[in-house]
Amino acid sequence: MKAGIFALQGDVSEHKKMLHNAGKELGKSIEVVELRGFENFNCDALIIPGGESTAMRKLTHDENGNDGNKFLNFLKKISGEGIPVMGTCAGLILLAKNVDGKFHNGLLDIEVKRNGYGRQRESFEADINLRPVLNLNGTTKFHAIFIRAPVIEKVNKGEILADFEGNAVVVKDKNVIGLTFHPELTNDTKIYKYFLNLI
Ligand code: GLN
Repeated sequence: MKAGIFALQGDVSEHKKMLHNAGKELGKSIEVVELRGFENFNCDALIIPGGESTAMRKLTHDENGNDGNKFLNFLKKISGEGIPVMGTCAGLILLAKNVDGKFHNGLLDIEVKRNGYGRQRESFEADINLRPVLNLNGTTKFHAIFIRAPVIEKVNKGEILADFEGNAVVVKDKNVIGLTFHPELTNDTKIYKYFLNLI
């Protein structure tokens, strides 16, 4: 199977390594491609990494500065075809319908506050609570790394797959998953295995 990483910004090589490791553990061979654009997409899964969502949005918006409709339509099309899509941190922000009170035509009906943990906690690590479905190795915790992370303030639609301090930190609606942290910066492949199993 072939997984694409949207490679405008962010930890592309780390996501790549994790996909390969997760594939190995699942006994599946995974080809990973770095995508510079979204035309000619022919992958079985897509990851949108973290980075800076404002910068990423500029790259995905049309020349008139409109709300990235081409990109969002692309996401809508592939997710509608059943292709799993995972957005992490800024990637989750690009997937959200509501960011800082502003409507975006995103795939996940969630309300997100950018940099929601504030200056004191720009970057931190914490054990988050996994729901049983993510609990592939029998552990209920995942050591998560948050970097200027968004806070999911409300989940209007979808399942919460993990939470931390009372907020959802992993949300899934059908085959679309959003994470507020950086799973590629740990060695724990759980979330990638779960993601690959959605293919
Ligand atoms: N704070 C960033 C944003 O708003 C996200 C940070 C990240 O992806 N690590 O886009």
